[in-house]
Amino acid sequence: MTNEDSTVHPNTEASIIFGTPVVSGMAYAPVMWAVRPSAPALTAPAIPEDSREAEFAAYEAAAATVAERLLSRSNNTIGAVSDVLKMSAALATDKGVRRAVRSAILKEGTPAVQALVQTTETFVELFKKAGGLMAERVTDLLDVRDRVVAQIQGLPEPGVPTPEEPSVLFATDLAPADTSGLDPTLVIGIATELGGPTSHTAIICRQLGIPCIVAVRDLEQIPAGERVLLDGAEGSIQPNPDPERARIDVERDAAWRASILQWQGPAKTTDGHHVELLSNVQDGTTAKKAADGQSEGIGLFRTELSFLEAQVEPTIEEQVAIYKPVFDAFPQNKVVVRTLDAGSDKPIAYANMEHEDNPALGVRGLRITGQNPQILSHQLDAVAQASAGRVGKTWVMAPMVATLPEAEWFAKEVHDRGLTAGIMVEVPAVAILAEHFLTYVDFVSIGTNDLTQYTMAADRLSSHLAEYTDPWQPAVLKLIDITAQAGKKLNKPVGVCGEAAADPVLACVLVGMGVTSLSMASSAVSMVGAQISAVSLEQCEAAAVAVRAAKEAKEARALARHALGIL
Ligand code: PEP
Ligand code: MG
Repeated sequence: MTNEDSTVHPNTEASIIFGTPVVSGMAYAPVMWAVRPSAPALTAPAIPEDSREAEFAAYEAAAATVAERLLSRSNNTIGAVSDVLKMSAALATDKGVRRAVRSAILKEGTPAVQALVQTTETFVELFKKAGGLMAERVTDLLDVRDRVVAQIQGLPEPGVPTPEEPSVLFATDLAPADTSGLDPTLVIGIATELGGPTSHTAIICRQLGIPCIVAVRDLEQIPAGERVLLDGAEGSIQPNPDPERARIDVERDAAWRASILQWQGPAKTTDGHHVELLSNVQDGTTAKKAADGQSEGIGLFRTELSFLEAQVEPTIEEQVAIYKPVFDAFPQNKVVVRTLDAGSDKPIAYANMEHEDNPALGVRGLRITGQNPQILSHQLDAVAQASAGRVGKTWVMAPMVATLPEAEWFAKEVHDRGLTAGIMVEVPAVAILAEHFLTYVDFVSIGTNDLTQYTMAADRLSSHLAEYTDPWQPAVLKLIDITAQAGKKLNKPVGVCGEAAADPVLACVLVGMGVTSLSMASSAVSMVGAQISAVSLEQCEAAAVAVRAAKEAKEARALARHALGIL
C-alpha cells in the first residue's frame, strides 16, 4: 500500500485503511486508543545492603498479587480466554524471572522496578530470538511487567480504560489481560497495529465475538474520538463515514449474524450443491463439542496436540485410549486423522531432534519418520485398532509431505491397514504437482496455514507479517485452484482444513474452485454454512474466476464479495 492510498480524508472511500481481518462483523462508533504506560527507567541508585531483602520481598509480594489477580480473572472466564490468562499469571511468577530479579536486587542492589525491567528486557530478547510462538508472547511479557511495576509503585493496575459509550478500541497491540476483561457491549470493535491471526488478541476476540482487525498499518493516523466504520470481514476501517449509510450497514450485519444462530446444516448452495462442513479437533472433548453442533464429521484431528508434554513415545494402548473418544463422537461419520505433525511450533520430545536453526523448514511432520520410522507405524496401528468396526469412514493423512515417493510410501502404509489414505497440501511443491500426487492417494486436504507460510516465505506466527500470511494472497489462491482442478479431473476429494475454511467469503471461493469439504473450528461451522447456503454454486464459481484477476489480497476479497453479491 502506498502512503497516498492510506492518507486519511474524512468521508471519502480513499481514506479507508486495511488490515488483516480476524473476526467478522461491523461496528460504527468513536475510537478509543489504549495507551500502554511508558517503560520505567532502566537504571536507578543502588539500594543499601540492609534494605535489599525487604526490596526483594516487595517484588515477590507484587508479583504474587498480579498473578493472583490474573488467576482469579481466569477462573471467572472459560475456554481460550481462561487459558491465556493462566499463562500470563504463570509469567508473573516465572521461576527464571524471579531468579534473575533476586540476584540483581540482592547482589547488585538494583531497585526492584529496575531489576524487573532489566530482566524482562533480557527475556524479551530471548523470546524474539526464539521466534514463532515465543516471539508472539513478547506483548504478554511486557504487559505482566507493567502490572508488577505498577503494583510495586502502588499505582493503579494499567490496562484498557472502560469506555463511557460503545467504542472501537485501537491499540498498538493488546495483551491477554487487556482483552479478556472487555465488555463486548462497550468495546464493539478492535483494531491493532501489530498482531497476527494467531495472536492472543485474535484468539480472545474470536471467543468474545468482537469484530477485529489486526496488522493495520496506518492506524495511528486516526485520532481518539473520531467515528469509524470497522468491517471485520473485509478488514477495513473507514474514518468519518456517512452516518446514515454506516447505520444501515451495521444493522444489516446484525440481522445477518442473528440469522446465523438459526442456521441448520447440512450446507447446500441455493441451487442444491452440497458442501461437507467438518470440524478441526484435538481430542475427545473437542470432538464431542463438534458433534453437538452442525458438523458432519471431523476433517482434521490434530493428534500431536495430545503429546506435546510426552517425553517418551506413548504405547499403542495409550494412543488407542486417546483416539477412541474422537471416533466415538462421530460413530457414523467421517473422521480424518492426521498423523503426528511434530516439529516447528509443535516440538515433541520423543520425535524431534534437539535443535534446528530453521525448524519450520526442518524435520517436521512426515519427515520425522526418516529417523523414527516406528513412530508412524505404531501410530497407524493404534488408529486402525481404535477405529476397528466403526460404521463411519476413517481417513488418515500425513502432514508436511513434499515428494511423490513420500506420498506413495505413506499411502501403502495406510492401505496395508485397510484405511483410506491422503496427504495434506501444505508445501507448494504438492500443489504444483497435485495431479501426480492424487494418483497415489485417495484424497488431499489443503492446509492453508502452512501453504500460505511456505508460498509467501513468511512465518505464520509473526505479528509483523500478517499481510503476507493471508490466504487471500493471489499466489496462494492460485495453488489452491490448481489442486482443486486436479481433484475434479481425477474425481478425488479435495478438502481445506486450514483457517481459510473458516472465512465465510473465502469458503465460497473455495467451493467455486471445486473444493469438496471444509474443515474448521466447530464454532465457525454455522457462519460458514449460513454463507454457503445464501449463494448459488454459479456465484461461487464466478467468485473463483474473479479472484484470478486480483493483484493483492484485499483486491481478491473485494472481487469475491462483488461476485457473491455481498455488500
Ligand atoms: C495448516 O497448515 O493449514 C493446518 C491445518 O495444519 P496446522 O495448522 O496444524 O499446521
Ligand atoms: Mg500445517
